[in-house]
Amino acid sequence: MANVLLMPYPCQSHINPMLQFAKRLASKGVPAALVVTRFIARTVRFDAGKVRVESISDGHDEGGLPSAASVDEYVERLESSGSASLATLIEEGHFTHVVYDSFMHWVARTARGLGRPVVPFSTQSCAASAVYYYINSGLLDVPPPEDNAGVRSEPFAGLPGLERWEFPSFVFHDAPYPALTAPALAQFADQDVGDWVLVNSFDELELEVLDGLKRHFKARAIGPCVPLPAVDDSGDVDRFTYGANLLDPEDTCIKWLDAKPPRSVAYVSFGSNASIGAAQMEELSRGLLAAGKPFLWVVRTSEEAQLPRHILDEATASGDALVVRWSPQLDVLAHRAVGCFVTHCGWNSTLEALGFGVPMVALPLWTDQPINARLIEEAWGAGVRARRDASAGVFPRGEIAQCVRAVMEDEDGRAASARAAARRLRDAAQGVLAPGGASDKKLGDFLEFACAVMD
Ligand code: UDP
Repeated sequence: MANVLLMPYPCQSHINPMLQFAKRLASKGVPAALVVTRFIARTVRFDAGKVRVESISDGHDEGGLPSAASVDEYVERLESSGSASLATLIEEGHFTHVVYDSFMHWVARTARGLGRPVVPFSTQSCAASAVYYYINSGLLDVPPPEDNAGVRSEPFAGLPGLERWEFPSFVFHDAPYPALTAPALAQFADQDVGDWVLVNSFDELELEVLDGLKRHFKARAIGPCVPLPAVDDSGDVDRFTYGANLLDPEDTCIKWLDAKPPRSVAYVSFGSNASIGAAQMEELSRGLLAAGKPFLWVVRTSEEAQLPRHILDEATASGDALVVRWSPQLDVLAHRAVGCFVTHCGWNSTLEALGFGVPMVALPLWTDQPINARLIEEAWGAGVRARRDASAGVFPRGEIAQCVRAVMEDEDGRAASARAAARRLRDAAQGVLAPGGASDKKLGDFLEFACAVMD
């Protein structure tokens, strides 16, 4: 019997999909364990169902990432402290296979050193993964520097021609967090990529890009790893089992939404990491007010100081706006009052919006978000992208207001068509996850592979 250990990068948006995948394995009767850091294991309440939660040391057992000198220092220490700790866990836990976050090569090296088969799992869109892979393999050029801003690549292997700013940030050597650049680029290069590379996507979303990648390695789309109703065919995982919330969701959200008419509210969130800055906060506040729709906006504690509360006072006092520090995002997206999602286009947020059929207003910032935004608007028609004012470096208020109206008001048919596209993809997502659907079948194939490797 396989006994699978899954190791995500220890942050919200990587833990979420890998835990969902672990739950799917467990729902097929395969023992599965998720590895997090000791700090996260101690401070977060996991709703992991049959999945065991194990922990290793990241060298910051007391304070986790917030206690590190920098992200780079954290990444380096995670590897140096984590390798030995992980090796012990694999041996003592008698794990037979290791599924690892595709840019944590050290996990693969550690597991291979112990003779365990390893399988990379990409938590990003296939398009972002493909750009990293093709650039690293010399098949696609890194666009020249900013003075040639706007330069477009040729369309390649299912990817559209991309403007420089749409490339995933880590292809540029001046990207923040240098410790992540090389691992991001080399994601699918170093392994004898074996028979399985798991990607959190599904055919209906990224068929051509997936087909392109399959010519180089065995990319298998097993997503969307989002807790939708059809996730667990044994029926004992409830519909909105988050798995883990690294921050505490505020329960005011749902009560506030309950009082709003259907599809009337814009939900606004920039995920677990992004810092949009004071100037963008002001443009966003004014843009949301100008759009004239009630809005629910997640502003994490670390960002609160930049929020121009005076601009929002009237709207919050009248109940037209609610600002919270963290939301139960799946419940919010599932709520009938939500009419659109103003999002930074993190891949999980994108998949979750699609999973619940909510059209999006894309305000992408960096990393894979710009390419995801391109998919949302162009490839799927499930929303619109706001255009950034390049000289001011922000999405201007007028643009934000216009985009919100475009996906919420039915004047020119754009809202209806974005909604229809999002719903079509919601149905597709549920179909692939349902018993016998494409993702479910691939899960079955994966289990066959895992057992065959052991024979
Ligand atoms: N999320 C949440 N509550 C919030 C904001 C975000 O539960 O108020 C979750 C969201 O459901 C998603 C994750 O945090 O699963 C964010 O991941 P994503 O890939 O969208 O963005 P990132 O955090 O990597 O920027």
